Amino acid sequence: AKRRGRNRAVAYRPAFDATLSRRLQLIHQLRDALERDEFELAFQPQVAADGEIAALEALVRWRHPARGLLLPAEFIAVCEDSGLIVELGRRILRDAVWCQRRLAAAGFGHIRIAVNVSAAQFTDDLYDDVAQALHGRPLADGGLDLELTERVIMDSPAHAIELMQRLAGLGVSFSIDDFGTGYSSLAYLKRFPIQRLKIDRSFVQDLGQDASDAAICQSIISLARALDLHTVAEGVETEQQRDWLRERGCEELQGYLWGKPQPFETLLPALQHGRWG
Ligand code: C2E
Ligand code: CA
Ligand code: CA
Ligand code: CA
Repeated sequence: AKRRGRNRAVAYRPAFDATLSRRLQLIHQLRDALERDEFELAFQPQVAADGEIAALEALVRWRHPARGLLLPAEFIAVCEDSGLIVELGRRILRDAVWCQRRLAAAGFGHIRIAVNVSAAQFTDDLYDDVAQALHGRPLADGGLDLELTERVIMDSPAHAIELMQRLAGLGVSFSIDDFGTGYSSLAYLKRFPIQRLKIDRSFVQDLGQDASDAAICQSIISLARALDLHTVAEGVETEQQRDWLRERGCEELQGYLWGKPQPFETLLPALQHGRWG
């Protein structure tokens, strides 16, 4: 909504009401969707230098009865603001753990499942949610990777470190998502129990055309190396981007070059039939 000073507020009210009512409607629909179990996960591989899959990132989708398959951009923000993300996040964790167990049963236990975690989920309850998802049966070490943004962990760093250490005790590993877009204090970065930095797609996009993006990617890779962390680049779409990143030692790559996110039920057979590695 536009805001051009106090005297204009009345003129914009109707639009505001319409937006608010649409939001309330969406929250209502999201509650029903949770009840009806309309959310599902799509997975996208994180590919190591040798072409093997190192991880699968779980990305949530909403199978809307009328509108078809909806991407997170359509509903995640409202889930976060309304608090529904906590319950949705629990289901996602449970599904992710289940998929990792199926991977392990099929001989792919070394492939971790990466799960995105929103700020609203990153409370002490997250420990209980992960423990509950594991159901007393731990995964292979690092089999569950939580992707946290800088914003999420820098909000209250000391508390974040403590929570992450407890989660690490459950075998969880951590990646910093969208790295470079936030405001991480470098001094703090080394105090977090993290394994990976994910280079945001916005920096990968123009590699080759934009000198400053190349400089940013290079410095993230160097920084990670100095801190003994791995780098994962997201949004890799071209062979040029792939080669540029690999030549500079980025350990894992993810993007449409290897395919769009897909259901676990199609990914697992692809793995088993050796389409990968
Ligand atoms: P993200 O964590 O940065 O995830 C990467 C997004 O980039 C995904 O969009 C993915 O499908 C897309 N992507 C992957 N490769 C490429 C590529 O080569 N080119 C382009 N243009 N895009 C690519 P998606 O699935 O729409 O997810 C959007 C965002 O929604 C995610 O950004 C993440 O912040 C959030 N999200 C997704 N799933 C979950 C979830 O289960 N829980 C939470 N809390 N947030 C989620
Ligand atoms: Ca992510
Ligand atoms: Ca993200
Ligand atoms: Ca991103």
